[in-house]
Amino acid sequence: MTSEAERSPLGVFECQLCALTAPYSYVGQKPPNTQSVLLLEESYIMKDPFSPDRGRFLVLGAQCSVCSRLVCVGPECSLFYSKRFCLPCVQKNLSAFPPEIQQDLEKRKAPSSKRPLGRACPGT
Ligand SMILES: [Zn+2]
Ligand SMILES: [Zn+2]
Repeated sequence: MTSEAERSPLGVFECQLCALTAPYSYVGQKPPNTQSVLLLEESYIMKDPFSPDRGRFLVLGAQCSVCSRLVCVGPECSLFYSKRFCLPCVQKNLSAFPPEIQQDLEKRKAPSSKRPLGRACPGT
């Protein structure tokens, strides 16, 4: 077992939706220095810079299972529902997702500018 790859980042992860960038040090389902962690998907991972614990890591993002874009795990960019989906793909296939996912997405949308400030009188 060598640990030479432990410290140096493999590259820089870049979310293709929100342009978040961060250096990642591992890609895969089993982060190094963890005993029993097996992620549900291939993920881009960096060691948690805020934790002295070597086994701590952050999942930066993963590849959309539909369009293969790299997306971060932020709620604005992707969701995980048995696989990783970027939000544009979710929107395109929304009816394929269960109601709770659809509701969750509704909540994620910024409610600010979308809603017209209607003050229509209740007709009839
Ligand atoms: Zn993103
Ligand atoms: Zn996608």
